[in-house]
Amino acid sequence: MAPQTRTRQARKSSQHPPNNSSRPSRVVKIDQSEDQNGNEPEDLTEDIDDDDLCPICQMLLHEPVLTTCGHSLCNFCMATWASTSLAAPMTIVDVDEEPVPFDPVSDLEARCPMCRTLTTAKPDEQRSSALETKYPRAHLQRLQESSSSQPSKATASSIQTITVHIGNRHRLVPAPPNGPSQNQHDWHFFVQPSRTDIIEEVHIHLHPTFRQPHIVRTRPPYAISRLGWGFFTITASIILKAGYSWVSEEAEEAPDGAAKGALPLEWTLDFDGFGGKGSMGRCRLKVRNDKEWGRTDREQARDERARRRMVRAYEDDGRYEPVDEE
Ligand SMILES: [Zn+2]
Ligand SMILES: [Zn+2]
Repeated sequence: MAPQTRTRQARKSSQHPPNNSSRPSRVVKIDQSEDQNGNEPEDLTEDIDDDDLCPICQMLLHEPVLTTCGHSLCNFCMATWASTSLAAPMTIVDVDEEPVPFDPVSDLEARCPMCRTLTTAKPDEQRSSALETKYPRAHLQRLQESSSSQPSKATASSIQTITVHIGNRHRLVPAPPNGPSQNQHDWHFFVQPSRTDIIEEVHIHLHPTFRQPHIVRTRPPYAISRLGWGFFTITASIILKAGYSWVSEEAEEAPDGAAKGALPLEWTLDFDGFGGKGSMGRCRLKVRNDKEWGRTDREQARDERARRRMVRAYEDDGRYEPVDEE
């Protein structure tokens, strides 16, 4: 079964040579499926050992990565797999840690598509050059395919991963001399998503005893600072722009009714962590980008959001009496 599949794969791709003029002409010659000896396809498609095929795409491993559980996959296949299968626990880190862009292959823990154990993967340079030597033609073909097929992937609805840091900084300040003899906590709560272009707004819900417990931030920094006596749990709901939705069981309807448009994250204020300076949690979350979203729908949704935002602002300052729209 395997040799047939391989031949079919290789021939299929050779029938659609990508028009990439920057590639060496000798690759194009291979793709033309003609040769001097008359014994065509078999001669053009190298026989690839089963061990050198990617278990996901069933083609010659391209930019192979090696998982901690000992399996090999294409870098692209692993990244795609990891971002769609990822479970997102929150990791507590130092509040001063620089939010770094993460690598979807080496930084993401995902269940291995082969053995289902939690694993990460590293580029396997040795394997990569060994494969290049062993299958020069198939290697070139894969190189060519991967450079030409990237733009077409953008047409389908896609899953993207974003990192969100949520946490607080903290400073203990002495109580004013004639106030109650208790120290005060000067805290700064923040939500830092690795991408802000897809975020509509962030709603911050404080303890109901605060005078203004519901704060809406429409642009970064999504943060607030307060002075208080004790800690409590803050809920920050991250609302995505029209056309995007959270891939999460916990996602809720956005205020404007978009399904899975809002993701509530909870953070309990930390006054003790890292020597009392606070801490933050790092979570990796999945977002679905629905490219099918019509332009008109998007504009309508934007107008509707703007209207609701205005109504909310009016409600907040008492200029507007909410009417039951039902
Ligand atoms: Zn693959
Ligand atoms: Zn594995």
